[in-house]
Amino acid sequence: MSMDVTFLGTGSAYPSPSRGASAVVLRREGECWLFDCGEGTQTQFMKSQLKAGRITKIFISHLHGDHLFGLPGLLCTLSLQSCPTTVKQPVEIYGPVGVRDFVWRSLEISHSQLLFPYVVHELVPTPDQCPAEEFKDLSAKGDVGSKEVQGRTVHLDPTEESYLLLHSEDVTVKAFRLFHRIPSFGFVVEESPRPGKLDVQRLKGFGVEPGPLCSKLKNGESIVLQNGMTVSPSDVLGDPIPGRKVCVLGDCSGPVGNGGIRLCLEADLLIHEATLDDTQTEKATEYGHSTPTMAAKFAKLCSVKKLVLTHFSQRYRPAGLSGGDDDVTTFRGQAEAILDQQELILAEDFMTIEIPMKKQNK
Ligand SMILES: [Zn+2]
Ligand SMILES: [Zn+2]
Repeated sequence: MSMDVTFLGTGSAYPSPSRGASAVVLRREGECWLFDCGEGTQTQFMKSQLKAGRITKIFISHLHGDHLFGLPGLLCTLSLQSCPTTVKQPVEIYGPVGVRDFVWRSLEISHSQLLFPYVVHELVPTPDQCPAEEFKDLSAKGDVGSKEVQGRTVHLDPTEESYLLLHSEDVTVKAFRLFHRIPSFGFVVEESPRPGKLDVQRLKGFGVEPGPLCSKLKNGESIVLQNGMTVSPSDVLGDPIPGRKVCVLGDCSGPVGNGGIRLCLEADLLIHEATLDDTQTEKATEYGHSTPTMAAKFAKLCSVKKLVLTHFSQRYRPAGLSGGDDDVTTFRGQAEAILDQQELILAEDFMTIEIPMKKQNK
């Protein structure tokens, strides 16, 4: 099963012709999961190979406009393109407390009526996710849209220091806290481990022929042979094959608590912001942002396989483009000086990165 990530916007603060505002799409099982939705995300979708109609879930990392202002427009266009007679599963939106009110008010004030249902699940931040003077309580707004299905309010699990957003048989999504000018979150998508491969030699040893009995073993069920002997999956299966793990972090100058470090451990792909380069560390920290060194230190701490830097200040021109003050390629050396041979990618708009399935450990 293929899994890939496409960057629709890699710039910070506002969309420019060379870098859209924040938006990343994870494609899996024919579905698109959108992470952040800056202004212009819908037109970026149209310019890409992706289909916005495939969006089933939207994750908003924090409520700054460059991650949020594209959401009402995108929802309205999806509605125009949807068929009013087909029954659709609600589009699920996850984001910090306040995002439900934002969606409802935007739709209500503009007299926009969606033809499909949606549901908003809100994450409750903790006050230590931003400077004290910036923390606002945005909870307890009562109104909801006519197409809105009642969503959940998700609180921090204090033991794990994470938020459980979604758990199904094959995938789990959790969030963790980040420090920024306003509360921000990182999201971790992790596939469940797959059963290991059947060991043909061991099956032969038990006298099990290829067929339905093998399928049962592969699915984790024990079987009883004609001679009365029981063969359990662990007798004939290799070690479980770990699922893939992708982490998408919102704006931050670092994590809050240890939840993020634990969740991102050994991720296949870590998407981390690097708004300014290392010569601007003081300014970056003041605005709750990261530099290549800060992002690389987190990636190293978590032993991730691949680090992608994104959310570049619009002053850094993309590689190969003239104009702007600085070339973003300076970020590479700064991050690589910290990393342990881990792969580093500087994101550009419309870049797609595949995450291959893992193989059986021998
Ligand atoms: Zn931003
Ligand atoms: Zn921000």
